[in-house]
Amino acid sequence: MLNLILFGPPNAGKGTQAKLIASEMGLVHLSTGDILRGEIAQGTELGKYAQEIMNRGDLVPDEVILKMVGNKIDAHRTGNGFVFDGFPRTLPQATALDKLLADRHTRIAGTVNIEVNDEELLSRMMERARKESRADDTPVVLNRRISTYKAETLPVAGYYESQGKFLSVNGVGTVEEITARIREAIGQFV
Ligand code: AMP
Repeated sequence: MLNLILFGPPNAGKGTQAKLIASEMGLVHLSTGDILRGEIAQGTELGKYAQEIMNRGDLVPDEVILKMVGNKIDAHRTGNGFVFDGFPRTLPQATALDKLLADRHTRIAGTVNIEVNDEELLSRMMERARKESRADDTPVVLNRRISTYKAETLPVAGYYESQGKFLSVNGVGTVEEITARIREAIGQFV
C-alpha cells in the first residue's frame, strides 16, 4: 500500500492535484471535504450538522472526521492505498491516522505540501468569489478558513517534518507543472 497526504492552505489546488495523482497511481482519492459535501447533498443528519460548521469556515470535530475516514479506509482495504486531501487537518487527526493505518499494517509514506503564497491565494479567492462556486468560498469565510489553517492545521506540517516525511513543492504554475513537481516529490518517498 502507498499512502500519501497532499497538504496546503485552502485554494492551494489540493483537490485538483489529488484527483490526478490518485488516478495515475491507482490510488483512492480520500477528500474529507468531498465526503462532507456528499452528506450535505444527500440531506443526511451528518450533512445538516456539518453544513453550519463548514459555512462558518470552522473545522468539523475530529471524532466525526475520524469515523468517516475509518469507514472509507475499510471500504478500500484491499486497494493500493490512498491520497489524503484535506485530512489530517489537526494534530489529533494526524496521530489517529497513524494508528488507523498501523492497525491495518500500513503507514504514511509521505506528505507533499503545495506551497502558495498569500498574495496568490488572495487573487484565487477573488476569482472564485466572483464565480460564487462554493458557499464556503466567500471572502469572509475563506479568510476564516485560512486563519483556521494557520492555527490548527500548520502544526500537522511539523509532525510529518520531524519524521522526515514532508516535502514542499511550488504550487504556482500550470496544473501539469504542479503535478510533475508532486510526482517528483513522491518519488523521493518511495
Ligand atoms: P475542503 O474541501 O477540504 O476545503 O473542506 C471544506 C470544509 O469541510 C472545511 O473548511 C471544514 O469545515 C470541513 N473539513 C474538511 N475536512 C476536514 C477535516 N479533516 N477536519 C475538519 N474539518 C474538515
